[in-house]
Amino acid sequence: LTEERFLLKVEGLTVSFDGFKAVDDLSFYVEPNECRVIIGPNGAGKTTVLDLICGRTKATDGSVKFKNQELTKMREDQIVHAGVGRKFQTPSVYEDLTVFENLEISYPKGYNVFGALAFRRDAQVESRIQEIAETIFLDEVLTLKAAFLSHGQKQWLEIGMLLIQDPELLMLDEPVAGMSVAERKKTAELLNRIIKDRSVIVIEHDMGFVEDIATRVNVLHQGKMLSEGSMAHVQADPKVIEVYLGH
Ligand code: ADP
Repeated sequence: LTEERFLLKVEGLTVSFDGFKAVDDLSFYVEPNECRVIIGPNGAGKTTVLDLICGRTKATDGSVKFKNQELTKMREDQIVHAGVGRKFQTPSVYEDLTVFENLEISYPKGYNVFGALAFRRDAQVESRIQEIAETIFLDEVLTLKAAFLSHGQKQWLEIGMLLIQDPELLMLDEPVAGMSVAERKKTAELLNRIIKDRSVIVIEHDMGFVEDIATRVNVLHQGKMLSEGSMAHVQADPKVIEVYLGH
């Protein structure tokens, strides 16, 4: 199989904070249409891995290749532009704007000859907003201000605000934290829709949810890859059992 089947290649990724290796020689490859879930105890380095991929934290060593572009040499905004979207744990939607407007302002903006922002409010944008709103279960509340959405709906809206930028790789930090059981089920459905044409990396603690979404799982421990594979594989791995149950 050729190299091109991988969307993301993380190799030997390492970051030290004052000599402490938060991520230590980590390697993994993500294919197109994957939902890769990163699990592991608190402090394992999960958030730092996403910070390194999206350029928020600079790697001490190693490489992150996204479609043959070396992300470790790029700025955060260039990485977004390359097609990597990142959602943080707390939803950050514009409460005073409607669902429609939140999606509209997230639509990739063109710049006019004067360098000013030029919003493209045309039929194409509107149909894209409609399509995204259906995907994130918010098509019936497009004119509602975001302030009136539930916590779960705000999380979906923020995912929609990323989707409208058409990233090929989406990274989500605990997307179902604080959600109801029903919202968790719909979020699993949402992620399964998303990976039909892109890949997702998710940090998650809820193992039931992991089972519903993961194509593969990475188990991190002390900045290193403890185990990698299907959910069934990592659950049966003695090293994983030791870390989760051994102390
Ligand atoms: P996880 O997301 O798995 O809970 P983190 O990636 O947040 O773990 O953190 C991994 C380790 O790196 C922790 O011990 C944390 O304190 C440390 N760490 C993360 N970011 C920094 C930083 N900017 N400076 C110093 N230490 C950090």
